[in-house]
Amino acid sequence: MDTPAGTGPRPRPAALRLAALRQRLAGDRIDALVVSKRENIRYLSGFTGTAGALRIGAGEAVLMTDSRYAEQAEEEASAFDVEICSGAPALIAALRTPSLRVGFEAGAMGYELWHRMREVVEGKRGGVLIPCTGLVESLRVRKDASEIALIERAARIAASALEAVRPMAVPGAVERDLALEIEFHMRRAGAESIAFDLIVASGPRAALPHGRASGRRLQAGEFVVFDIGARFEGYHSDMTRTLFIGRPGSRERQLYDTVFAAQDRAIGAIRPGVTGQVVDEAARSVIGAAGHAERFGHGTGHGVGLEVHESPRIGSASADVLESGMVVTVEPGVYLPGECGLRIEDMALVEETGCRMLTPRPGSNWWQE
Ligand code: ZN
Ligand code: ZN
Repeated sequence: MDTPAGTGPRPRPAALRLAALRQRLAGDRIDALVVSKRENIRYLSGFTGTAGALRIGAGEAVLMTDSRYAEQAEEEASAFDVEICSGAPALIAALRTPSLRVGFEAGAMGYELWHRMREVVEGKRGGVLIPCTGLVESLRVRKDASEIALIERAARIAASALEAVRPMAVPGAVERDLALEIEFHMRRAGAESIAFDLIVASGPRAALPHGRASGRRLQAGEFVVFDIGARFEGYHSDMTRTLFIGRPGSRERQLYDTVFAAQDRAIGAIRPGVTGQVVDEAARSVIGAAGHAERFGHGTGHGVGLEVHESPRIGSASADVLESGMVVTVEPGVYLPGECGLRIEDMALVEETGCRMLTPRPGSNWWQE
């Protein structure tokens, strides 16, 4: 049974995640890491505020934030010492740490702040500021049971919203109105927000893989792509359905069957130990065999979690190796510029012997008259 928003499974104890991170820091000879990426702050500490930074070393686990968040920080980040500061939390974290080899998240810091941090850290004798990439993200790729439950909840919310709005996808309906209805249903079902700008792209606009909902009206005899997702307690879902408005002809059936078969093949290839490239090739070979190799330009999938797009990547150049506990999308598509486009996207949890779908794969009723 669904639990109401806010009472879902809690993240596993921060102590476990901290211990795993400290092990990596020791391996990289980093005395303290300043964490400034919001998703990583949330993952490690539970803190959901929008301003803050963590300072984590062998003997310290500190959350720096400003006075607006004092109470919330104590409540959410119980495994951390909370220090209230005014100014840039990452800079102050660097200032207050006794450590000399200080890591920072290279992908999450602007040039100006980096410059000031370097002055602070390297102003001490023996101080070094060390850029780190993917340290916390590497812990996040395998999801624990509580995270999987939240992702599944986000997936259910999106799937049922589309189910509810589907009857409105008729000739004359405006893409933006459909997107708004989907958002309304998702939020009423407990989503804290949409996971990204919802895509509702009809007719020739469906050939734009990221065609955000516009003022265009649906017409009979065309495809409409819905790429939607919900965010629930920080975790995202990501799912695409393509509907045909009216009765499809043989060409539309051939296109749809090709994309569905490509997705099928890719899902069948998912298991621990295979690379993202292998899964991508499984989908790509089906689309290539149907003569549309040039019409499938993007990768086959990506990890989903606290971010909509995260590791691992499933693409033609991806050496990322799948492991059990990863959650990935499988989303092949075919795009015919100026004419039409279609994509089917579902989320899969990698398990010991294969994978388990977290979204209900589309059945055979993909058109409506
Ligand atoms: Zn998507
Ligand atoms: Zn996606």
